[in-house]
Amino acid sequence: MVNLKVLSPLWKAVFLDRDGTLNLDVGYPTPDRLVLLPRVGEALRALKEKGFLIFMFTNQSGIARGYFNLSDFWRFNRLLSERLQVSFDDILFCPHKPEDRCICRKPSPYLIELALRRHLIDKRRSWIVGDSYRDLKPGYILGINTALVLTGKTNLNDLRTWDFKPDLIGENLMEIVKEIILRDEALGERKGTR
Ligand SMILES: [Mg+2]
Ligand SMILES: [Zn+2]
Repeated sequence: MVNLKVLSPLWKAVFLDRDGTLNLDVGYPTPDRLVLLPRVGEALRALKEKGFLIFMFTNQSGIARGYFNLSDFWRFNRLLSERLQVSFDDILFCPHKPEDRCICRKPSPYLIELALRRHLIDKRRSWIVGDSYRDLKPGYILGINTALVLTGKTNLNDLRTWDFKPDLIGENLMEIVKEIILRDEALGERKGTR
């Protein structure tokens, strides 16, 4: 009999929204409009050093709307990775627009649920970071920690209309990452879990 518990290694992960969290949200960003937010590369590299997988998780309805195409989207992500000097362990995206009523568009937790299983993620040690309600709602639904970054479309007043509260709020990604690392260290080191 195979002991699945012993065989199931669990990773910790951070799911990151893209626009407004990693780079300036300019509406429908094309590669020529990429502006990084301060210290984002440093923050992501710090997470990787601490053993977190990092995933990009983004709604890109500009694709369905025809503002840019799939290769523009990937070109943007490659450029982003290069400029941040970090590679993402996976990129989860919804190319649809709300009217398409797809199953993958945030706040749907669908893509994150798939990633949790595909990458063997321990959700209690994982985080979703984003600048909007719909970025974090999947975390609330699935029981993953949520962190709101104030570099995008949400300010503190907006929180009054939310039906849940983020576990963490930070002025910028670096502030959030420092706190994620502190809280994770408080949970205790579990090295060699994979
Ligand atoms: Mg955003
Ligand atoms: Zn979709």
